[in-house]
Amino acid sequence: MAMTGVDPARQWLDWAWLLMTDRFIPIAEARYRTSAPTIPESLEPPDGRLVDRLGRRLHDLRISVTDRCNFRCGYCMPREIFDTAYKFLPHSSLLTFEEIERLARVFVAHGTRKIRLTGGEPLLRKHVEDLIAMLARLRAPDGEPLELTLTTNASLLARKARALRDAGLHRVTISLDALDDAIFRRMNDAEFPVSDVLEGIEAAQAAGLGPIKVNMVIRRGINDDQILPMARHFRGTGIILRFIEYMDVGSSNGWRLDDVVPGREVIARIGAHFPVEPVDRRYVGEVAERWRYIDGEGEIGVITSVTQPFCQDCSRARLSTEGRLYTCLFASEGHDLRALLRTGASDLMIANAIGLVWQRRQDRYSEIRSEASVSRSQAGQKIEMSYIGG
Ligand code: SAM
Ligand code: SF4
Ligand code: SF4
Repeated sequence: MAMTGVDPARQWLDWAWLLMTDRFIPIAEARYRTSAPTIPESLEPPDGRLVDRLGRRLHDLRISVTDRCNFRCGYCMPREIFDTAYKFLPHSSLLTFEEIERLARVFVAHGTRKIRLTGGEPLLRKHVEDLIAMLARLRAPDGEPLELTLTTNASLLARKARALRDAGLHRVTISLDALDDAIFRRMNDAEFPVSDVLEGIEAAQAAGLGPIKVNMVIRRGINDDQILPMARHFRGTGIILRFIEYMDVGSSNGWRLDDVVPGREVIARIGAHFPVEPVDRRYVGEVAERWRYIDGEGEIGVITSVTQPFCQDCSRARLSTEGRLYTCLFASEGHDLRALLRTGASDLMIANAIGLVWQRRQDRYSEIRSEASVSRSQAGQKIEMSYIGG
């Protein structure tokens, strides 16, 4: 029996609710295409060695815990689109912590060893530390704990760092696009000051959430003059600064290739002041290209998703806030795992449905970006970064 997981009654209720409440502006659930995962007829227990069509493992799971954010970074949630009329997901649509933990357990059985919580802004999700505590209890088949991390804009970090660590979080990655306060406020478009992010970083260090990584997205002409000040500031602190090429995720940020500062240029600019040398990647699928200062003052990274794509090693799956599985950041269609969860599918059925999705995966958007942007615009709306997380 081949079975799909959509509950027509539930879907009808969602639509009816939208109509009755006069809110027939597409929320994320209706905005993006979704398909019901197929449960294969013959069910096999996961053996932890799942690979996709290009031989890539499912090592890394990114879980978006909210599609909301208190910042309006222009490259992610431009205010003119994410304004007061924008329809975020209603609470009833979100996966519960129990549902997230159940899915995470299945992913671990398939070989996932690293989980990153993201969003939107993950610290806006109420009691997120309870979810962290649940995920921290998961074990790989060999008994090892998972690597558990979170990416945050740090607006609530000074307050929450200790509780996150106590709950079992290992590390945090913090986004900071400039040291200059005026530039940073313009970029977050929420009047949030640099000093509060630095305070969040300090709190995270004090709580033992290291080694801390700081992500800086670079847009030419907007904050590329902050590359050196940022490098200078974080040298010698043990914090790993990573420069991210501005990406064409979603369809709201008006991305242009001219706005991208190639990772190679970033390294050349820094190297002219502080000589650097390359460091080997720690594991297959690590996204950042690593460099270290020759004078021993620490490490930096560049994430060159645009100019030097790394799809051939991409081992990341993404789970959206309302339980859709995406096999690529640039996907326009998700697989509705929540429907499986809420229609009584067993763990084995869900594992097999996920297995089939991954076995069919052949995404490599960044490697075929120019052709892909044509076919995507015909195929459906690309998901937004704030919806699926970085
Ligand atoms: N709100 C949290 C934060 O900003 O850290 C977590 C979610 S955010 C979507 C995750 C990461 O994606 C951030 O480091 C952010 O800078 C990055 N990001 C968002 N939009 C991007 C884009 N268009 N290109 C490159 N990176 C982007
Ligand atoms: Fe919010 Fe993070 Fe997106 Fe900025 S990058 S708008 S902080 S989700
Ligand atoms: Fe992975 Fe898709 Fe990014 Fe390529 S474009 S690295 S497949 S998420």
